[in-house]
Amino acid sequence: MDGKATLTIITGPMFSGKTETLIAKIKEAQSAGLVTKVFKPAMDTRYATDAIVTHSKDSISAQAIAQSQDILKHIEGVQVIGIDEAQFFDEELPVVCTALLEQGVEVIAGGLDKDYRALPFGIMPQLIEMAAETIYLTAVCSGCGKEATYTYRKSSEKATFLLGEQEIYEARCEDCFKKK
Ligand code: ADP
Ligand code: MG
Ligand code: ZN
Repeated sequence: MDGKATLTIITGPMFSGKTETLIAKIKEAQSAGLVTKVFKPAMDTRYATDAIVTHSKDSISAQAIAQSQDILKHIEGVQVIGIDEAQFFDEELPVVCTALLEQGVEVIAGGLDKDYRALPFGIMPQLIEMAAETIYLTAVCSGCGKEATYTYRKSSEKATFLLGEQEIYEARCEDCFKKK
C-alpha cells in the first residue's frame, strides 16, 4: 500500500446533490488525466442501466453490478473509482473498498446515510467510519424550505428498498420529518 489512496463519502438525503457531486469529482479526476470507472447497483433501474443520472438529468457512464465483489473484477488500470447509491450494496462493500485502497485505487462513494425511517442505511455508517473525508450535503425541505437532512417517504409502503423519485420521496428538515 502506498498510503495515498483514500475513501471519500458523499452523503445526505435524497435530492441533495450526491450524484451531482460524485459526477463532478469523477470529471475532475478525468481532467487530471486519471483513469476512472463508476459503478452502481444493478437493482437501481430508475434511469439508464449503463449510467448514473442526477435528478437534473446530468449523467456519466457507469457499470451496473450485482455484488460488491464484482467491482474487483473490473478495475484493471483504473486509478479512481466512483460508486453511486452505495447504500444499496451488500455487506461486502467495506471489505471491497479496503482492498481497493490497499491497491492504491482512490474511492469516491455516494449514498444515503439514513433510510426513510431515519435509521442508518445499510453499510453507509461503516463507510463513513472508514472515510478520510465525508461530505454531508443537504437538500431543501419540501415542507418549509429550510435545510433538509432527512428523506421522507410519502407512500405507506414499508419495504426498506423501494425505488422511487419525487412521487414517493421528499427531502425534509427534522421538524417537518417528525410532523409526518
Ligand atoms: P441525489 O443524488 O443526492 O439524490 P442529485 O445529484 O441526483 O441528488 O440531484 C440533485 C439535484 O436535484 C439538484 O441540483 C436539484 O436541482 C434537483 N432537485 C432538488 N430537489 C428536487 C426535487 N424535489 N425533484 C427533482 N429534482 C430536484
Ligand atoms: Mg443520486
Ligand atoms: Zn421543514
